[in-house]
Amino acid sequence: MGNNYDIGIIGGGPAGYTAALHASIQGKSVVLFEKDKIGGVCLNKGCIPTKSILHSSEVYKQTLNGEIFGVRAENVVLDYSKIIERKNKTLETLRKGIELALKNAKVSLVNGEAQIKNKNVVECNNEVFNCSKIICATGSSPKIVKGLEFDNEFLLSSDDILNLEKLPKSILIVGSGAIGTEWARIFNNFGVETTVVELAERLLPLADVEVSKRLERIFKTNKIKFYTKTCVSEVKDKKVTLSNGEIIEPEIVLVAVGRTSNNIDKTDGIEYIGDVSGEIQLAHYAVKQAIENIEGIKFEKSLTPSVVYGAPEIAWVGRREQDLEEGSYKKSMVLVSSLGKAHCDGQTDGFIKILAQDNKIVGAHIVCAEASSLIQQLAIAIQNDITIDKLKEVCFPHPTYSEGIFDALFKL
Ligand SMILES: Cc1cc2nc3c(=O)[nH]c(=O)nc-3n(C[C@H](O)[C@H](O)[C@H](O)COP(=O)(O)OP(=O)(O)OC[C@H]3O[C@@H](n4cnc5c(N)ncnc54)[C@H](O)[C@@H]3O)c2cc1C
Repeated sequence: MGNNYDIGIIGGGPAGYTAALHASIQGKSVVLFEKDKIGGVCLNKGCIPTKSILHSSEVYKQTLNGEIFGVRAENVVLDYSKIIERKNKTLETLRKGIELALKNAKVSLVNGEAQIKNKNVVECNNEVFNCSKIICATGSSPKIVKGLEFDNEFLLSSDDILNLEKLPKSILIVGSGAIGTEWARIFNNFGVETTVVELAERLLPLADVEVSKRLERIFKTNKIKFYTKTCVSEVKDKKVTLSNGEIIEPEIVLVAVGRTSNNIDKTDGIEYIGDVSGEIQLAHYAVKQAIENIEGIKFEKSLTPSVVYGAPEIAWVGRREQDLEEGSYKKSMVLVSSLGKAHCDGQTDGFIKILAQDNKIVGAHIVCAEASSLIQQLAIAIQNDITIDKLKEVCFPHPTYSEGIFDALFKL
């Protein structure tokens, strides 16, 4: 076949590999260029490694606090190198799975940095590839902020933080978006003195106001120190001066203030999907964009669920209360502490909140164990215009957290 392909895809993250697999199923010849490791940020530096370390931190915390469940452990040892080893093994297993799927799908994988020459030509490793269509899925990188430039030693990015060989005694996290909040919970679980600085009025600024307020309460309960409406004014000799005049001396700083699209000089005729598109920077959004591009299956972008991991999980979809005009909607709130399952699991903190208009759900905001899965039921209901009366006809299993959704329907 030479170097002629139906589709050339640059970037082997969720956007790129999903596009490659779906195009191949459609009988297209596909070449996929990846300069680093297959799986992209999601698998190698983002979603998966953080959740693996988070899980270890939760096991550690649960082991320390097992006595209330009748399980007493003595001399609990935290071996951070084992945690990293397990994380790396998990990544390797998943990476091999994607590589095998690409191989089985007969996608040609080229390891190297690709360059778009024009709308039909890619150059990589000094070879030219002619492609009828080119998709650019080159992802994003940690945003660099003036005065907080990464030095890989004291001021760390979300990439650098994965390379720690041992846990610090204290950490300052700049930014309380999903990445900052997850890492705050991880370090807190490990017993690291954790402080978060957020420029916005509230933690997790993109969430519903009540979710942000609850997270602030959760942080307080867990002794995670935080400052809102505050930024870093200066960093000098490992001393961090905040805009309120306070000086903090953490062992390290994680700067998690957002991400910047890679290769933003866009070329006409090239299709951009995933983080590089500059739209919602989430793996499931990247996957849906890829499927939309290849299969033509449209999706409702405004109904992309957001999830923040940790205990309790936080997830939301649709409209937030602050987006709706006062008096134009109904609201119901069920406390997780009213659910049997929550008491069995010892996870009673949080709520399930539903916003509705005209007998239909328009937004859902969940702070609860398993929120990452629960939110999907509500996304399906909203996207398919299922009325609240119809949802009341559905049978929810007991004892589950999903019963909270069922109870919430009757309060609307
Ligand atoms: C710490 C962290 C935690 C996260 N957690 C979550 C989460 O829980 N859930 C969620 O949905 N999202 C999460 N994300 C976001 C998620 O990782 C991204 O939205 C997702 O990876 C975007 O996929 P992508 O395919 O667009 O790009 P990427 O995953 O960034 O992949 C792009 C790929 O392109 C390659 N590339 C770039 N330029 C070239 C070139 N010129 N030639 C060849 N290859 C090239 C790169 O090496 C990379 O492998 C997290 C991100 C971070 C940083």
